[in-house]
Amino acid sequence: MTIKQLQQDILKLKREQDVIILAHYYQSMEIQEIADYLGGSLELSKIAKEKAHSEYIIFAGVIFMAETASILNQDKHVLIPSREACCSLAAYLNPKMVKLFRKKYPNLPVVTYVNSTAAVKAESDISCTSSNAVNIVRNISKEYQVDRVLFGPDANLADYAEQKSKIQTVKMPREGQCIVHSQISINDVKNARKEHPSAIILVHPECRREVRDTVDFIGSTAQMYNRVKQSPSKETEFIIGTEHGMLERMAQDFPNKTYHLLKDDITCLDMKKNKLEHIKHLLEHLDDKTFEVKVPSEIAKRALKPIEKMLKYS
Ligand code: SF4
Repeated sequence: MTIKQLQQDILKLKREQDVIILAHYYQSMEIQEIADYLGGSLELSKIAKEKAHSEYIIFAGVIFMAETASILNQDKHVLIPSREACCSLAAYLNPKMVKLFRKKYPNLPVVTYVNSTAAVKAESDISCTSSNAVNIVRNISKEYQVDRVLFGPDANLADYAEQKSKIQTVKMPREGQCIVHSQISINDVKNARKEHPSAIILVHPECRREVRDTVDFIGSTAQMYNRVKQSPSKETEFIIGTEHGMLERMAQDFPNKTYHLLKDDITCLDMKKNKLEHIKHLLEHLDDKTFEVKVPSEIAKRALKPIEKMLKYS
């Protein structure tokens, strides 16, 4: 079956049922094209809460994102196209580790990146995304009247928040990193600059500090998108330092600009585990519990607090 036929079948099945499809910018273009809403983690979390009135939510992203949607929509069925779409970054931190860090630093608030499991969120004081990490660290340190916070699981994002807010972050754990963004090196930036000297380089805050320090713009996927959207006409060329799904999105939405990927193979293999065939299967079997991501109510209740706190501060 061709991609077009699959997409048509999906759209037809979607129309006939009470279902909404949310897709992260890192999904393949063919999935982005059939989604009701597209976005980065924060926008999709908000959409899941405010606009997802359907009984079924298909979340084309990784499991922690579907968990967040489940936490915010306990009365709905949240389905993930592939149960194998995990996140290696989220796997760096578990609730037991958070408790040990709390014991060691009893007065410090726990900030966890939304790219963490529901069980980790349940042990946190506040969540954050790559868009709001700096503000969240600033605000929570003020609220607790401390000059340090516990932050996990991404040590690079923690370092970025620390660099910008001047509030120290204790990394939970020190080695936590996103395999996709942390692989970008300073040499990749140098080579890209040499090849495209007038292009503007944008990277994600999950990149390492030496990379962040040499580029033109640092931001979440949504912030990068807006940076390109709002760019003046004299800025025509961009080098994208994040998952290549983002580049495809921009190329489609702003075709009058030229795009290059900062490195050849910036792909999140987990995000790409979701396929159109999986989504069609879900729509044909909405009641198949295998694909439902349901956070137990006791954990959901505790995990909701840090998310709501984050949404309030955002
Ligand atoms: S890009 Fe990184 S943080 Fe995002 S889902 Fe993939 S591994 Fe996880």
